Amino acid sequence: MNQYKFWFVVGSQFLYGPEVLEIVAARAAEMAEKLSKVLPYPLVYKVTAKTNKEITDVVKEANYDDSCAGIITWCHTFSPSKMWINGLANLQKPWCHFATQYNKEIPNEEIDMDFMNLNQAAHGDREHGFIGARLRAPRKIIAGYWENEDVQKRIGSWMKAAVGVAVSKNMKVMRFGDNMREVAVTEGDKVEVQTKLGWQVNTWAVGDLVKVMNEVTEEEIDALVAVYTANYDVATDNMAAIRYQAKEEIAMKKMLDAEGCKAFSNTFQDLYGMEQLPGLASQHLMAQGYGYGGEGDWKVSAMTAIMKAMGENGNGASAFMEDYTYHLVEGQEYSLGAHMLEVCPSLAAGKPRIETHHLGIGMNEKDPARLVFEGKEGDAIVVSLIDMGGRLRLICQDIHCVKPILPMPNLPVARVMWQAEPNLTTGVECWITAGGAHHTVLSYDVTAEQMHDWARMMDIEFVHITKDTTPEKLEQELFLNDLAWKLK
Ligand code: MN
Repeated sequence: MNQYKFWFVVGSQFLYGPEVLEIVAARAAEMAEKLSKVLPYPLVYKVTAKTNKEITDVVKEANYDDSCAGIITWCHTFSPSKMWINGLANLQKPWCHFATQYNKEIPNEEIDMDFMNLNQAAHGDREHGFIGARLRAPRKIIAGYWENEDVQKRIGSWMKAAVGVAVSKNMKVMRFGDNMREVAVTEGDKVEVQTKLGWQVNTWAVGDLVKVMNEVTEEEIDALVAVYTANYDVATDNMAAIRYQAKEEIAMKKMLDAEGCKAFSNTFQDLYGMEQLPGLASQHLMAQGYGYGGEGDWKVSAMTAIMKAMGENGNGASAFMEDYTYHLVEGQEYSLGAHMLEVCPSLAAGKPRIETHHLGIGMNEKDPARLVFEGKEGDAIVVSLIDMGGRLRLICQDIHCVKPILPMPNLPVARVMWQAEPNLTTGVECWITAGGAHHTVLSYDVTAEQMHDWARMMDIEFVHITKDTTPEKLEQELFLNDLAWKLK
């Protein structure tokens, strides 16, 4: 993920004379250099902009530079905003307005009118804010002292969301087979997602995958099985099933990489020519950062890949998840999430075990190998992207994952147990009111604020279910959103 950079564009004007402009430029370069050491991506100082042309030029350059994942602007001095209109109107990259100040303190003895004219971000950033508001430009506003650790963390967090935008715009999804028959929530308008989010979603025949599988060599399988046994405990004697999953993984990876796809989907209803639904194979691909969606759910697959890329080191703890069943004992209300096989081991509390069990759903001729583990404890979110017809809605719910309260020794799949906000039943009412799917991306790594930032940059509706959400307030919010998005 290190190919991404962010550009620091500092606003000023000629009014103050060349000496002030030199100081502004030197300080901006110093800030970018120091911030680059603590931020997840480099911040490159580009220009102290004084004219319409300088701003328009830097925006054009940013738009066409694939390594530029966004711009961060700041006004050290006053920068009249009419000169920003042409540039900002053409900006196609994420924008963060950093309302900061070079100096931390007002110096009691030293302060005079020269100091005031040089250090007037309080003044300049308001003019800059106005033009963002007037242009209705999607922007993140972060205010605070640039050397403050919390402020730096917020900039870093936004950077990761902006990288999610870059990843989204290059997302290619490989579908092996169609969606599960008759299911509604996994459907969606592929032309709409390509227009809005940049995703290229296309289908490849399962028969083509089987052909590639048949060309996989025993040596390739040996090498991948060695990786499996190094990372996971083998809790089965059925090495043939593990080798078969390795063959599936190698073939899928070859096809994904040949097409530049970072996400894939398949369905148990179409395994024509395959002995097992990919379980361990899909899980280990997810561990490497590929997105996955079961039952042909290409939306959740792409979202999994994007959220993984937004996470720590470009492959965070985010995974395809499914709401399965509830524990409704009073005072002990939990959701149990899992999937029939395919849960990413990035969620695991301990070392996953490779097991083989019979899978009754679908056309599995043989028992598929899969990774079995418990999810780790911690605060997390679940996210669902749905197609509302004419627009997309991103729903995000705050949850807290716990160590599963039951051992469930006969459950042959990876499992995660959580408490949803504001509580299980109200949370379910809110989720159902918003139309959220049973498939989600569960993430310990990406925050709700980052998903909100991402949705703003992608220009799609964002719905957040928190500890303060009530079904009544949510219903009203969705009603107003519906009206607003029709006008947009
Ligand atoms: Mn499912």
